[in-house]
Amino acid sequence: MVFMHNYYAEHALLPTGWASQVRFHITGGCFHNIQTNSQPQASDIKLQGPILPGMINLHSHAFQRAMAGLAEVNLNPADSFWSWRDLMYSLVGKLTPEQVQTIASFLYIEMLKAGYTQVAEFHYLHHQANGQAYDNPATMALAVREAALDTGIGQTLLPVLYSHSGFGGQTANAGQQRFLHKVDSYLRLQQELNSSNISSRINQGVCFHSLRAVTGEQIQQTLAASEKHWPVHIHIAEQQQEVKDCIAWSGQRPVAWLANEIGLSERWCLVHATHIDAQEQQQIVGSRAVVGICPTTEANLGDGIFPATQLAQAGGRFGIGSDSHVCISPAQEIRLLEYSQRLQAQQRNRLYDANNPSVGMYLYQKCVADGGAACGLSAGIAEGNRADFISLDISYPTLASAQPQQWLDRWCFGSNHNPVNDVYVAGNQVIKEGQHPLQENTYQAMQVCLQKLL
Ligand SMILES: [Zn+2]
Repeated sequence: MVFMHNYYAEHALLPTGWASQVRFHITGGCFHNIQTNSQPQASDIKLQGPILPGMINLHSHAFQRAMAGLAEVNLNPADSFWSWRDLMYSLVGKLTPEQVQTIASFLYIEMLKAGYTQVAEFHYLHHQANGQAYDNPATMALAVREAALDTGIGQTLLPVLYSHSGFGGQTANAGQQRFLHKVDSYLRLQQELNSSNISSRINQGVCFHSLRAVTGEQIQQTLAASEKHWPVHIHIAEQQQEVKDCIAWSGQRPVAWLANEIGLSERWCLVHATHIDAQEQQQIVGSRAVVGICPTTEANLGDGIFPATQLAQAGGRFGIGSDSHVCISPAQEIRLLEYSQRLQAQQRNRLYDANNPSVGMYLYQKCVADGGAACGLSAGIAEGNRADFISLDISYPTLASAQPQQWLDRWCFGSNHNPVNDVYVAGNQVIKEGQHPLQENTYQAMQVCLQKLL
């Protein structure tokens, strides 16, 4: 016998905007029979507060949560991304699979509490500290997958192909030994993870660390041997130095090289793509590739400002990621994304469209839809989509006094607290009134783990 629950919410954010008196049922973890302007029935599960689709976090390196906030001391006047990377490598040298799972579980609980229901885990920490593969080469990837299974978040697991230290196949350095795969061992890892996946909340994608770390031939071989419907992620054009090195090596800028030599499509997620010119922007828009903007990490690392206003006006696609996890808040990522555009243009309200003049509404809806696509999901509260949604506590005076069309702006631009109350993934409630059932134990384990590591 199959139990079918009907849910009822006074307000729900659908792809078309806010709707009132919304009823739906969830079967097989997905939304069905969504009705608006309908009366609640006595047997309905009544959701507290307005409901929204869960936010998509399209870029995460879980283990980096352990060092967030510890690279903010200036020891070198020329401090840059590359000194941050040195600190990251020293952490990488120590991590065990158990520690990685603890850090990822802690992080995923934080994400769920903040309103993220899906994370694309860009996973490149594969091997033992000496660079040898574990007896099961998938050990580390299974640790981050286990964290997603335990905590209940949806995960797009992206095992990373990483082979070289610089453009043109340069030999990897000592700090990179735990990351390295050749195409054949990478494809075996991919197959092992695919064949052992038992959850509909976990899917998979293809991932290249960067154009520094793989050759064009490796990209071609890997794509030819991988599932054709999987998303494809890569770090690209994050730093000016990377653009200069790419031009010196190939005569082309990174995104142009990828578009011209490999070919872009809607399967691609270009993480950062901070430094692009007008022609590269056209190539991104024309291919329907999604740009993975990581506003707080890019600000933290001093990467630069992505030209989001221009991309949006040209009809391009983008979503948000928390990347190094200096911030775990969709609202704060959205806020900084918009503010970076304002600071650069010296104008207000930059990211919006004709349907959504509200910046908060425009960015929330866009980052769900385009971020979902980058994770191989159709995301949003709509027929047949996975039932991933959050409810907001609107008892706080600034929200309680607002109209529905103002809630997202109030949250993203005018809140100093987290209003996320309940969180559901695939129809299962994972956060209840702001709390996760594994929170206490996981926080304790995280503290022990950090004391040992640091
Ligand atoms: Zn990254």
